[in-house]
Amino acid sequence: MTDSERPAGGAAHPRLVVLAGPTAVGKGTVAGYVRRHHPEVWLSVSATTRPPRPGEQDGVHYHFVSDADFERMRAEGDLLEWAVVHGRAKYGTPRRPVERVLAQRRPALLEIDLQGARQVRAAMPEALFVFLAPPSWDDLVDRLVGRGTETEEERAVRLRTARTELAAATEFDVTIVNDDVARAAEELVSLLLEPSSTRRTDIP
Ligand code: 5GP
Repeated sequence: MTDSERPAGGAAHPRLVVLAGPTAVGKGTVAGYVRRHHPEVWLSVSATTRPPRPGEQDGVHYHFVSDADFERMRAEGDLLEWAVVHGRAKYGTPRRPVERVLAQRRPALLEIDLQGARQVRAAMPEALFVFLAPPSWDDLVDRLVGRGTETEEERAVRLRTARTELAAATEFDVTIVNDDVARAAEELVSLLLEPSSTRRTDIP
């Protein structure tokens, strides 16, 4: 989009922001803060085949669906992206709500895993891709193995995964450090609401 094509005021909305990052970095917590404090931001509600956890509401935190329903959505092209996360459950972003909200020119946020972010990058390269990073490697290790309930082998697998996931930061437009949930969430919201003309990716 050129400057002359931008809507008045310089804001090239609609803006789609994709938030991803390593396992256990706290993406869900940051997205939850945005949900509670910034009703002007629309959060995509993913479909998942995992069962709800205590306190999770169908249609609010996720659409909890059967594997057959998920496969039908996938086959009919209803998912913008999808992935099997942690080798356990399927997760996907329903396509139509995202398209509808962007058509209404509302800022939209997707909180998804790295595999999903790469698919959205291929489908919608104009989106802004934000990587949520831990304050330090040690902090991430503490979050991953903090409970100490896993075997030595599980621990090694998790750490290997974390190293690979952290290396993906270079694929993203912006990195936000999750040193404090409220601060990180406010930084994210400012990216959702700022005029696209000041996007880092627009700078040659
Ligand atoms: P949880 O089951 O703990 O809520 O989420 C597990 C992981 O699934 C998180 O890393 C989260 O970002 C990811 N996730 C949630 N929704 C989606 C989605 O629609 N697509 C993809 N690819 N990942 C998702």
